[in-house]
Amino acid sequence: MDCKNDRTKPILYIVIPCYNEEQVLPISSKLFLEKINSLVALGKISDESRIMFVNDGSKDDTWNLIKQYAKEDKHFIGISQSRNRGHQNAVLAGLMESMDYCDITISIDCDGQDDINAMDEMVDKYAEGYEVVYGVRSKRDTDTFFKRFTAESFYKVLDKFGGVEVVYNHADYRLISKKVLKEFANFHEVNLFLRGLIPLVGFPSTSVFYERHERMAGESHYPLSKMLALAFDGITSLSIKPIRLIIGFGSLVTFMSLIGIIWAVIGFVNGSTVAGWASMICLICFFGGANMLALGIIGEYVGKSYIEIKARPRYIISERTYSLKEK
Ligand code: UDP
Ligand code: MG
Repeated sequence: MDCKNDRTKPILYIVIPCYNEEQVLPISSKLFLEKINSLVALGKISDESRIMFVNDGSKDDTWNLIKQYAKEDKHFIGISQSRNRGHQNAVLAGLMESMDYCDITISIDCDGQDDINAMDEMVDKYAEGYEVVYGVRSKRDTDTFFKRFTAESFYKVLDKFGGVEVVYNHADYRLISKKVLKEFANFHEVNLFLRGLIPLVGFPSTSVFYERHERMAGESHYPLSKMLALAFDGITSLSIKPIRLIIGFGSLVTFMSLIGIIWAVIGFVNGSTVAGWASMICLICFFGGANMLALGIIGEYVGKSYIEIKARPRYIISERTYSLKEK
């Protein structure tokens, strides 16, 4: 892991989060190795480039496989998180770990869904002067209708409420230069939503397009509940628009209820009041619901602030396939 020689070509670290991926790793690791070898052969990157697997507290044989690959080929290295912390934190751990040893990183999932051939273009774009290159899915034919629908709604909602420009149909397949990573290291938030945060760092960026494939093996770890949680995190960790929306909504409801009160008083004065039970119940329910919703959203922000204030470590690396001194 000596990165002093061959300084004309960039050292690339491919960062790959892995959670219970024993089925897909034997297939995809070969492809990653072929890709790095071909990029080296084409003279686009240095031979000091590495494939860094981040084991995210897998319960299966994933970490043993990674250790075995690291013994077989110098291009493979791995770190292991002390427990499962989720995809975003796993990517962050890999990026922060690689930062000091490389010139560029590319983060990619290990299931083969993202086309690794887009890496050539990403590296070319870096050579042209871009510091961040987003991998964008040109179509989603291989996803089920449900996944496509939820994912598209996700981007739309983010766009409306997120308050930050999120690249449409871009997941976590992207090239980031060392320069950007060094700045990104100063973003200390614990509620991570990388897609929304990286654009905030700035620097020249561009996109490359690729077709998304089917998962090579194993199953998705992103069921609807996790997708919704990610969307909610995305919105509430990037913007306070939802709170503003509540203020607007609350004002509207207050105005409407004022009209209701006037109407009720006029009715009372005219002596035409009926039992009024139904309307009262409706109003109580409505305001009860609106209040709960508002409190819930405010509570979400209060909770997030609480977590941020504690500033717990965002990842804990328990093992490495190399010693730190070696690097
Ligand atoms: N992943 C992870 N930690 C988790 C869940 C997932 O590191 O808690 C990894 C997983 O191994 C994969 C990537 O994140 O490389 C994306 O997950 P997945 O393919 O299951 O999601 P999908 O592509 O279906 O959205
Ligand atoms: Mg996947």
